[in-house]
Amino acid sequence: MTENKLGNLKNCKKCNRLFAAPDASSSLCSRCNEAIDDDFTKVREYIYDNPTSGVKDVSIGTGVSTEAILKWIRDGKIVLGANALISFCERCGEVVNGGGRFCPKCIRSLTDGLKAGMDSNDSHRPRGGMHIREKNNLKKD
Ligand SMILES: [Zn+2]
Ligand SMILES: [Zn+2]
Repeated sequence: MTENKLGNLKNCKKCNRLFAAPDASSSLCSRCNEAIDDDFTKVREYIYDNPTSGVKDVSIGTGVSTEAILKWIRDGKIVLGANALISFCERCGEVVNGGGRFCPKCIRSLTDGLKAGMDSNDSHRPRGGMHIREKNNLKKD
């Protein structure tokens, strides 16, 4: 066997540099990992200062991509305060700016579903009672 013993050699997802991944889940080299920590600090501080920002505002304010910010929120690295205007669609997990329960796409399909007929009402909604009040939120943007 002539396999190398350097561990999991991978190409960094961000800079494409070859690096030895410490574990199977690492996809970034140490240099890019540091950069990410930096970004994370920026984002965290921005959110502290502007707790009601949407993901887009944070992204613009910090220069960090919305994808990265959303990932941290999903991972629980960024915990949203009660006033945060960011939430995730209960149906598909898409981000909802404005803090609604469903994303615009799901609101539309839920609304269409209602229009199409009530026979297929999903009776297993745990929270009981549907509102479509999110529509108002959408207009505020
Ligand atoms: Zn890298
Ligand atoms: Zn959705």
